[in-house]
Amino acid sequence: MQIDEINGTETLGLLALQAEILESIATSCPRDQVLNQLCHLSEQVVSKCVASVMIYDYSRTYITVVSAPNLPEEAIKILDGTVPGEGMGSCSNAVLLGKPAFIRDVLVDSRWHKVRHIAKKFKIGACWSFPIFVHGKVTGSFAISSFEKRAPSQLHQQLLKISAHLAGIAIERSINDEIMSHSNTAFNNTSEAILVSDIHGTVFRSNKAYHTISGFDVTDTQKFNIFEALVMEEFLIRTVKACLQKKGTWRGEIEARKKSGQSFPALLNISVVNDKRGYPCQYVAVLSDISLLKESEKKLLFLAHHDTLTKLPNRFAFEKILKDTLEKNCTLNSPIAILFIDLDNFKTINDARGHAAGDKFLIQVANRLTNCMRDTDVVARVGGDEFTIMYAYKGVDDLRKTAQRILINLSKLYHVDGNDYYSSASIGIALAPADGETIQSLIKCADTAMYRAKKLGKDQFCFYTKNLTKTLKTRMEMETCLRQSIAKNELFIEYQPLYDSNKNIVSIEALLRWNSPKFGIVPPDLFIKLAEESGLIITIGLWVLENTCIQASKFIDHFPELKISVNLSRFQLKDIFINSLSSILTSTGFDPSRLEFEITESTMLKEFSHNKNLLLKVNQMGIKLSIDDFGTGYSSLSDLKNLPVQSLKIDKSLIDDLPGDAAITNAVVAMGSALGLKVIAEGVESDEQLDSLINAGCDYFQGFLFSKPLSLDQLTQKLKHVNGEPT
Ligand code: C2E
Ligand code: MG
Ligand code: MG
Repeated sequence: MQIDEINGTETLGLLALQAEILESIATSCPRDQVLNQLCHLSEQVVSKCVASVMIYDYSRTYITVVSAPNLPEEAIKILDGTVPGEGMGSCSNAVLLGKPAFIRDVLVDSRWHKVRHIAKKFKIGACWSFPIFVHGKVTGSFAISSFEKRAPSQLHQQLLKISAHLAGIAIERSINDEIMSHSNTAFNNTSEAILVSDIHGTVFRSNKAYHTISGFDVTDTQKFNIFEALVMEEFLIRTVKACLQKKGTWRGEIEARKKSGQSFPALLNISVVNDKRGYPCQYVAVLSDISLLKESEKKLLFLAHHDTLTKLPNRFAFEKILKDTLEKNCTLNSPIAILFIDLDNFKTINDARGHAAGDKFLIQVANRLTNCMRDTDVVARVGGDEFTIMYAYKGVDDLRKTAQRILINLSKLYHVDGNDYYSSASIGIALAPADGETIQSLIKCADTAMYRAKKLGKDQFCFYTKNLTKTLKTRMEMETCLRQSIAKNELFIEYQPLYDSNKNIVSIEALLRWNSPKFGIVPPDLFIKLAEESGLIITIGLWVLENTCIQASKFIDHFPELKISVNLSRFQLKDIFINSLSSILTSTGFDPSRLEFEITESTMLKEFSHNKNLLLKVNQMGIKLSIDDFGTGYSSLSDLKNLPVQSLKIDKSLIDDLPGDAAITNAVVAMGSALGLKVIAEGVESDEQLDSLINAGCDYFQGFLFSKPLSLDQLTQKLKHVNGEPT
């Protein structure tokens, strides 16, 4: 149907209607006002009718009346929410099929069969509906409901077509406005700064976030070129422009400008916007302030690479720096040393004064280490009381002097929480790349050398040698075997008798032996130390105690005066030991008054007050105590007076001096006797020594002169032989 089929007046009428509606749309009249106006105008063209506009809801399941200025409220209520279907009337059919539904008699037409009651109620005769399209999609319908049964004339049809089209424009416009208003809200409320410029870079829009972040106001931004507003560095502007030209977009981190002249780290997303014809017309820049992110990134990075207590680099960072330096050094060719430093008595301070004091002490150590090195050296904390230093040295002499300087500095007096401490450290030194190929192996070498320095008496430094690794390897193998020794039945006990001056056996010392299939008979001096260092001594010590009690029970009852002594390591002197001791005595039924513990003089002196309490408890159980290896530990008379001990064993080293140099032995015997202690000489090998000891007033004697350590069978024979048949 063409407009020229309608007469001139009618055409003019339609054009006027069209012009009026378009003007309203152009002057941004609200949608519903425009639609109402459209209905009114249409009703003026068609007699005896009401016009209406229905549109789909967002979900496109039902249609609602958005304009029907002359339709009764009641009718609107009924029509609202109609779900389009075949028999549901003209509008339903128009939106369902996307085609006009011109129904001349709604009371007979099947397209109305479900809603005829509405037609009857509101006296509708005909209803012509035309679909409204927005963006090519059916969005609703424009309808004229006539109170007379009739088909639409050409004019009516043209009117419906134009009105539906105009309604579409009004609806589209309102949708666009809505989108625009949403995007404006987003534009102004987003936390990202946004700048929009023309293609020459002149900024014409900027949002609130940009002004807040940058400090520039709207008048400032309008004078800006977008690139200069954002980026400070010339070379970066060139890079960004080049990328925009090539790809139409650039994204990256920048130092963005602030009005104050400062800058802030930002993530910039800048894109070229093309016009409808595809020509670049604008730049849109979105800028996020990432200062906080950068700050926390920095903190995280620091935490990942530093020890929180001392703020020194941690093991991870140290290894990385060392790796980088060694890689660089291949070209620089200057030698690097790795110093592994372990404090000698940190545990004592930590245990005695608590962790807070321990922490403060470690901070002082870290400061001293840093202060005695150059800025180019790297000091790190790699463990509790372990530090490493990467040192570019100028020769072995320089290295020695540096290690010595560290030792001196670390051994100076410390003040922590009003208390004074002295400490020392052991240092192991490995040289790169001579001592190891990998970072880990170099650090391990320095650690091994440090371990050697500890062995040699602490408070010293030691260079790594290949032999150290060998020794360490053997030690580790031995430790593994020792760990299995009880289960594999490799431990056994020998007994060495102690005699009185009448050559009667008064006591027997239990001495532990280890027969290792791999290492042979290992001297106790060696494996006991290993057991102490590895913590195995607790289990092994209890094994000795229990087995001595079991074995000695077999003969002890026959010799009423006989005592059995067992050696205790200082690592066994823990409160928990008392519990284990009680249960062994209970389970074996061994009489505690027949038992004696030998504890070395140095152990007695160490951790004096703690040991004293524990030893008192042992004494209270009826067990006697003896100080072993006496004469090697420099105890004073007052120390001895305070300890709950009943006898002391003079160390073999003093007995060796006999009979020539008897002064010390005589003094020890005299002192011991004066304190009411029984005095025993150990390691007596000759008659001359024995005579000298008897002269001095020594009570008991032990040594090869009398007997070597014996097996249980040999011992029972010896007891029979020396002390007579069992009673
Ligand atoms: P100790 O307790 O001072 O034991 C005396 C050591 O001197 C024993 O060495 C003994 O065989 C040796 N000896 C005794 N008389 C003579 C002598 O006339 N001449 C010489 N040259 N040596 C003599 P052994 O059995 O090698 O034990 C060494 C150390 O191992 C012991 O010294 C003791 O400190 C420790 N030990 C042995 N068994 C145990 C144990 O079960 N527990 C603990 N914690 N330590 C043990
Ligand atoms: Mg002993
Ligand atoms: Mg001894």
